[in-house]
Amino acid sequence: MNQIPAREPSFRESVDLMFNRAVALMDLPPGLEEKIRVCNATYTVRFGVRLRGQIQTFTGYRSVHSEHMEPVKGGIRYALGVNQDEVEALAALMTYKCALVEAPFGGSKGGLCLDPRQYEEFELEMITRRFAYELAKRDLIHPSQNVPAPDMGTGEREMAWIADQYARMHTTDINARACVTGKPPHAGGISGRVEATGRGVQYGLREFFRHPQDVKKAGLSGKLDGKRVIVQGLGNVGYHAAKFLTEEDGAKVVGIIERDGALLDPAGIDVEAVKNHVMRSGGVNMFPGPRYIREGAKALEEECDILIPAAMEAVINLENADRIKAPLIIEAANGPVTAGADEILRKKGTVIIPDMYANAGGVTVSYFEWVKNISHIRFGRMGRRQEEARHQLIVDELRKLDEHLGDAWSMSPDFKGRYLRGADELELVRSGLDDTMRVAYQACSEVWNSRDDVSDLRTASYLVAIDRVATSYRAKGL
Ligand code: NAD
Repeated sequence: MNQIPAREPSFRESVDLMFNRAVALMDLPPGLEEKIRVCNATYTVRFGVRLRGQIQTFTGYRSVHSEHMEPVKGGIRYALGVNQDEVEALAALMTYKCALVEAPFGGSKGGLCLDPRQYEEFELEMITRRFAYELAKRDLIHPSQNVPAPDMGTGEREMAWIADQYARMHTTDINARACVTGKPPHAGGISGRVEATGRGVQYGLREFFRHPQDVKKAGLSGKLDGKRVIVQGLGNVGYHAAKFLTEEDGAKVVGIIERDGALLDPAGIDVEAVKNHVMRSGGVNMFPGPRYIREGAKALEEECDILIPAAMEAVINLENADRIKAPLIIEAANGPVTAGADEILRKKGTVIIPDMYANAGGVTVSYFEWVKNISHIRFGRMGRRQEEARHQLIVDELRKLDEHLGDAWSMSPDFKGRYLRGADELELVRSGLDDTMRVAYQACSEVWNSRDDVSDLRTASYLVAIDRVATSYRAKGL
């Protein structure tokens, strides 16, 4: 585990520092500023579960940062290091993240102190159901008040247990499935949720590279094609980001960092093969080919064009910030760069695409899932065939033209098949996510480029987000 140097502010203090830096550039009444900054409430629960012949006590949290919009939204993480400070920092980030991507939610976050790898599946189910019960009976899981999602150490399986537990406790709630997102498709989930956060990282980078003046600030040029990437954490977020960037954008993964060390290879590493190896063996060690180093965090300091920390917070801190060579960092994880490191990197000219934006793909698709759940219909069900019928009309006309013009013109061989197909749920979800990531980036980039007092994307995104939250509070008469 990465040790944060003693003089480094905590994650919560880091978020507050970054918030303060942004509000200093705004003209908010001090009372409103304070209202937005503070965390509204944090519930701590300790509960017992009988496991392996004895009662084990677990500690969990659900923190609600801001209820300017409801429901509030934010993942539940399972990790040994979970604590109130961390959960509150993450809940605050959720408020700003939702505002930035215009998901109509307040911010929340939850966590349970446990290492999920130490438990059997049936044990985890008992623990999760009990935790869900404790939260649901206080409306801290609720379709219209508080909607969790997966985070570190949790996934579709845990979300399905939570949804089922809630449904058992609220047998007549027609919207019960909307009480949590990130569920598997067969249990009310949505296509494309599992990949969403990594997909959002990809779309975010694509949009960044559509802004040449921003790319230039990082000292880079061109597009994603051929860019050298180092990724830390080959879990849900890191794996999908690395996979899509290599398979679809021509980027090259030259480094992969996991718990047990890192793999480095300037010629490029096969992400899929490493993922399979990690699934089988629990780590990257002994993967054939690339150079292996035991001290994984050292690989953050290697040469690359894009560094993607996608594991945990505070991995880039006062201790190593000076040695980070990547000119562009995209924070796929929450809080991977501490406030102290952020300052050092900013001075060096490193461009950081901040977590608030970079990993917002998850909550964006969670929003689509929630809408699907409360509307009780899958996206595309009403319009798809009608769209195909209209496309058929055009294809029929083009076919006539094709016959009429003979050799002078003809339809491309695959045009008909590609054009005829109406969009299914996955395509619609990706399209909605792509649009969201583009529009949100444009809002941040506009602030970054138009204000002399804003020198980085993080401040720009805080400004955009806080302004929206403030508008929302004002509209409520606060
Ligand atoms: P995950 O549990 O699926 O994956 C985390 C990965 O990081 C694992 O492969 C783990 O082995 C690895 N890891 C843990 N400690 C490490 C270390 N010290 N060095 C290198 N690798 C290490 O978690 P995830 O869902 O991918 O979340 C990762 C980050 O992304 C977290 O900060 C989380 O808050 C953030 N995030 C996740 C989502 C989501 O939809 N899952 C959404 C937004 C933000």
